[in-house]
Amino acid sequence: MKYHIWSLGCQMNMSDAERIATTLESINYTPASTEKEADLIVVVSCSVRQSAIDRIHGKIRNWNLRKTKEPLVTVLTGCVLDEDRLAFKKVFDLVFDIENLAQLPAMLADKTAEAEKEIENYFKIIPRYTSAFQAFVPIMTGCNNFCSYCAVPYVRGREYSRPHTEIIAEVRTLLKNGYKEITLLGQNVNSYGNDNPKEITFPELVQLVNDESDDFWLRYITSHPKDMSDELIKKFIQASKLTDYLHLPLQSGSNEILKKMNRHYIYEHYKKLIEKVRAEKPDIAISTDIIVGFPGETNEQFMHTVRAFEEIKYDMAYISQYSPRSGTAAAKLEDDVPKPEKKHREKVLTDILAKTALKHNKKYLDKEVTILADRYQKGVLFGRSGSFKLVAVKTEPRDLIGKFVKVKITDANAWALTGEMA
Ligand code: SF4
Repeated sequence: MKYHIWSLGCQMNMSDAERIATTLESINYTPASTEKEADLIVVVSCSVRQSAIDRIHGKIRNWNLRKTKEPLVTVLTGCVLDEDRLAFKKVFDLVFDIENLAQLPAMLADKTAEAEKEIENYFKIIPRYTSAFQAFVPIMTGCNNFCSYCAVPYVRGREYSRPHTEIIAEVRTLLKNGYKEITLLGQNVNSYGNDNPKEITFPELVQLVNDESDDFWLRYITSHPKDMSDELIKKFIQASKLTDYLHLPLQSGSNEILKKMNRHYIYEHYKKLIEKVRAEKPDIAISTDIIVGFPGETNEQFMHTVRAFEEIKYDMAYISQYSPRSGTAAAKLEDDVPKPEKKHREKVLTDILAKTALKHNKKYLDKEVTILADRYQKGVLFGRSGSFKLVAVKTEPRDLIGKFVKVKITDANAWALTGEMA
């Protein structure tokens, strides 16, 4: 029997997919090379955008047509809002909560069986890592923040910190097997441990992981500005494997909009954090997430985000136009910024970003940087630097994938660097 996993959305879902694969292989399923070849299809759903939900509905219609001609089992998990769940239960053979993954074999045997909640066992499943040199290690799940536009606290529940002994054990095994990049993963990693007074803090966890080996890079995503402590900022110096890169979502530069988003900080606090980080590591690359056109966002409020972009001078930003997710607090507000205006605001920010990113990238010209090579395509080797810059190197095919490679940068644009073997 063959399986196919279709994972939508963020790295959390991709990490879930790795654990789903191991679970299915434990009951003798093998990976299908294509979706068509699969006897079992598992969808790891994302609730962040309605478009993802619409795509799943489109796919399941085709799969259910296929089921009239040949046997096929369809399963849905991941981030599923209650109201979507009801509709999905009618069209999928099985819908289950990812935290109950350890019970998937039993649920496949009896699709009417009710699963017991058991997040502890979810983390004990050894994933089938998709890469042989980069790994995402989940350290927690859920979120307590209830940002008004976000469905995560509803679909993933409250924060649960995985025991640090388990995290260290997973990291140790990865490093022993030659992994070169470890990313600690969670919806809000810097609140790690807050749900359990006996657990260590996130900065302590970073240090412990850092001290496991000498030859690897350490990253983490995603952080919340309200939980970014001085102790954690100091780790950029104290933890030598931590790369020169910080992704810190701002979402909006307007304090009024931040309040409506329920983000629990003001822009001035965020700006101070960036100043502190840059005081420790002047060359650190900084990226962010932004939502434009949040309900009621006036032009004046948007101009505060413009000011933030001009002041902070990001290396990268993931800018999205607001779209409501039903079930969230923001979905009750009128989505009143017209689509063309959202598009315009996105473009204004992208134009500023293109200038600041280019300026940052030009600093690397004629310098030597180390990349972790991750693929070779049409005579070009690609990889990311510690500061998460995409680097392309023209070279003969060599056994370099999964290795640290020194590159001399010869050209730079806003979105990537080009170089030659150093
Ligand atoms: S911090 Fe906010 S945006 Fe991030 S997962 Fe939690 S509720 Fe969603």
